Amino acid sequence: MHRMYENEDIVVFWNSDKCIHAKRCVNGSPKTFCPGQKPWINLNNAETKEIWQAISQCPSGALTCQYRHDIDVNFDNQNCRSVALDNGKEIGECTYQLSESGWNIYHTGVSADYQGKGIAKRLVYKLIDEAERNCVGVMASCSYAWKVLEE
Ligand code: SF4
Repeated sequence: MHRMYENEDIVVFWNSDKCIHAKRCVNGSPKTFCPGQKPWINLNNAETKEIWQAISQCPSGALTCQYRHDIDVNFDNQNCRSVALDNGKEIGECTYQLSESGWNIYHTGVSADYQGKGIAKRLVYKLIDEAERNCVGVMASCSYAWKVLEE
C-alpha cells in the first residue's frame, strides 16, 4: 500500500510493503505515528523537525519525506491525471488510461524550472494512493512511474 501525507512544510511517502515494523518512527515522534489510528500518520501533531528526524531513522525505506516547496498536487478525476500547481499555475502532470486491469500510468512530466524538487514522485504517488483507496489496480508504462511503483 502506498500513501502520501502532507503538512504545510513537508510531504511524507509511506510504502507499507517495505515496513519491517521496527517502530523507530513511533518512538521518534509518537504523536505523529500512531499505529491503530486512521490515518496512522498525522503530520499536524508535532514539529516538522521532529517528524523529519523520526523518518530519517526508518531502517527499511518504508517512510521517506521531502519539502513541499509550496507546490500543490491534486487529483483531477475528470482528466484522468494528477496535476501540480504553483499558485494556480500548472507546472506538471501525471496521466493514466483506463484499462481492463486498472489504471495504466503512461506519462509523467514536470516543467523544466521545477525539476529536482520531487514533484514527479508526488504526482505518481497521488495516482497510486487514489487508485489503491478505490481498490483499482495500477500499473505503469511510463518508466518513471514504474520505478516509483517498484521502489
Ligand atoms: S520506522 Fe520504518 S520500518 Fe519501522 S515501523 Fe516505522 S515505517 Fe516501519
